[in-house]
Amino acid sequence: MLGIRGIVDLAQVDLAKILAVTNQKGGVGKTTTAVNLSACLAELGQRVLLIDLDPQGNATTGCGVVKRVALPTVYQILIGRSTIADTRLVTEFGFDVLPANRELAGAEIDLIDIAQREYRLRDALVGPRGEYDFVLLDCPPALNMLTVNGLVAADAVMIPMQCEYYALEGLTDLVATLKKVRGNLNPVLEIEGLLRTMFDPRSTLTQQVSRELEGHFGAKVYRTIIPRNVRLAEAPSYGKPVIAFDRSSKGAQAYLLLAEEILERRASARGRGASSGELGVAP
Ligand code: ATP
Ligand code: MG
Repeated sequence: MLGIRGIVDLAQVDLAKILAVTNQKGGVGKTTTAVNLSACLAELGQRVLLIDLDPQGNATTGCGVVKRVALPTVYQILIGRSTIADTRLVTEFGFDVLPANRELAGAEIDLIDIAQREYRLRDALVGPRGEYDFVLLDCPPALNMLTVNGLVAADAVMIPMQCEYYALEGLTDLVATLKKVRGNLNPVLEIEGLLRTMFDPRSTLTQQVSRELEGHFGAKVYRTIIPRNVRLAEAPSYGKPVIAFDRSSKGAQAYLLLAEEILERRASARGRGASSGELGVAP
């Protein structure tokens, strides 16, 4: 049986694709991916909302927004004191952003007493979702209530990862968590794709881990690989996505290719009809 939430899902087939950029491991390129993919999808004509779900507020600064504490943020949305329409900011890079700052760290505690706390973001997105083609969620490096809100609101997850040994161990934990969320809170959640980030083709270990990933996850691994590129690391300090900072850099070109690949995937998924009905990976 579908239930009320299932019926809402069916009605939303043609609305924004909501992608949670997530990995509980820190520093793997989640924020870099969320900001740059937002800018590249916008460049390709897509209407994009980037939601910063991390109290570090890196995605917020990464697109040129100063994270003042007085600003309404995702925090006010989660506790029901603001709406997405009243909180979103228009960036100069063609996409909207819902900012975050360290106030968001308090949400974990404040949500304890709130009913249906896992569904706060999902419920807030019901209306605004119709105004976008993509909503990207930049999740924090933890499996906490903020990430759970992201996973419950999302249609699918994008998992950035560095090709190193420990990444594979972390991935097993993440897949187990996704299965739990799918079983208990969000039955439509899928893995959209695994993204190899900070890739250094000269390293034998990197090559090995990359092959293992392809072996296990097959077509779920994006064809596009994000190379290690210093311009990607420099751009946030100018408050710019890399295509606005150094368009010809390898990093900018890679994220543009990723945006194209994601649009291709979306087009072919629409051609096929609905989702696979599974998380999309072997147990
Ligand atoms: P956190 O878990 O703390 O939220 P994260 O997963 O969001 O981290 P980022 O902040 O995107 O990771 O990246 C970590 C660091 O690596 C940052 O300093 C970023 O600028 C840098 N970085 C990310 N991707 C690349 C890349 N492809 N080449 C070079 N540097 C990169
Ligand atoms: Mg981050």
